[in-house]
Amino acid sequence: MLRFCPNCQSILRPDRNKGKLVCYRCGHEEEIGKEGFRIKAPVVQRKKIKDIVVDEGDYGAKMPTASVPCPKCGNEEAYWWLVQTRRADEPPTTFYRCKKCGHTWRDYR
Ligand SMILES: [Zn+2]
Ligand SMILES: [Zn+2]
Repeated sequence: MLRFCPNCQSILRPDRNKGKLVCYRCGHEEEIGKEGFRIKAPVVQRKKIKDIVVDEGDYGAKMPTASVPCPKCGNEEAYWWLVQTRRADEPPTTFYRCKKCGHTWRDYR
């Protein structure tokens, strides 16, 4: 929770001795609100699977392929990659993308 000085737009720094937010440039002081000194780390929302986008330009040369039958067209070769979809202590999910029709699916194992 950053707050800025109304006088000079500098970032106000918490001063523990005064219990206030202080501007070190012009000396402006402000009462600290409920949030106090604790600055919460921002919560990064994990992207959902449906939001995963494969960069079409990238794909092809660098992507590894596997002999996996495509559920849509039956082609036996697909690109694959790993995505950490849930908590870090869970194994990553394998995704496949058909080399022929471009159909993308995930491995549910
Ligand atoms: Zn200031
Ligand atoms: Zn296919």
